[in-house]
Amino acid sequence: MKALVKTKKGKGFLELKEMPIPEINQDEVLIKIHYTGICGTDVHIFTDQFPIYYPPVILGHEFSGEIVKLGKQVTSWKIGDRVVAECQSQVCGTCRFCRTGHPEACLSKRSPGWGINGSFADYIKMPAWLLHKIPANVSYREAALTEPAAVCSQALYSRAKVSTGDFVVVLGTGPIGIIIARMAQIAGASRVLITGIDKDEKYRLLLAKKLGIEHTVNTSKINLKEMVNDLTDGVGADLVVEATGVEPAINQAFDIVRKLGKIAVIGVSEGRLNVNWSAGSFKALDICFSFSSQYEDWVRVLNLFGNHALDLSDLVTHEYQLADWKKAFNKALDCQGGKVLFKI
Ligand SMILES: [Zn+2]
Ligand SMILES: [Zn+2]
Repeated sequence: MKALVKTKKGKGFLELKEMPIPEINQDEVLIKIHYTGICGTDVHIFTDQFPIYYPPVILGHEFSGEIVKLGKQVTSWKIGDRVVAECQSQVCGTCRFCRTGHPEACLSKRSPGWGINGSFADYIKMPAWLLHKIPANVSYREAALTEPAAVCSQALYSRAKVSTGDFVVVLGTGPIGIIIARMAQIAGASRVLITGIDKDEKYRLLLAKKLGIEHTVNTSKINLKEMVNDLTDGVGADLVVEATGVEPAINQAFDIVRKLGKIAVIGVSEGRLNVNWSAGSFKALDICFSFSSQYEDWVRVLNLFGNHALDLSDLVTHEYQLADWKKAFNKALDCQGGKVLFKI
């Protein structure tokens, strides 16, 4: 099969290669990939900015597909089932995190796309216990967004616990920022603002509008703090979701959140940052970080997709064949698009 492989550590070293179709174990299924999305993780492994990965490894972990082969012990699935899958393929089952229902935090976790072979390929093998059925009325194309949406669900619903009526500001208008903003609306936020900077003005801020987020703000041009103060009678935002990972935006979060408010962090930062930490003390903030997702997030997202409470079809703005991976990665890097998918 064709697969996009990170062949060794360092910047670049991505190659489209012929690889063997994975051999499945008794408790696994073989999945024919239909769509698979490029995530920040894949881009960071491509540019060698991701802390751990084990080359040679096929990249990709956001996918939808159909079961084409069943391991002997797999009884609850059949050939042809349309599925998506949680990422924690290899976990120990015995560490404190596994035993307390957090396999996504397992100390020896290995997931597709960095720890073991991933989804930028014709086929992937997955343990049956991680599978979720795609609702009949949800396309493979949209279902490929289940993983990023589950990560957003974890951050916003499970960790930050957004409340009805909240005034929410989402910093960052990448695919994750846009999904979070839509999810905040669904949760009954009284107002949702999403921010970008000059480079987002031509594409991503417009895309956010198209997805139904009315209040888009270019913070290179508009003073966000003044704006939030005006809209909240000087109180500040109830919840700020940081989806950029960059220092100026993180400090903005401390600036615009209200006293006793919340900051949810989903953006990934590099290195040490110069952050206005004392604002957190004087405002008595709740700050929660979030990564990965849990079973309940996958159920929630597939229910939202299946019942059309959340429609992210327009978030997919670019589709490529695996052979055009260079174009696809450049598109993901130039920030002038929404979600970039490979159609396999
Ligand atoms: Zn992802
Ligand atoms: Zn474990």
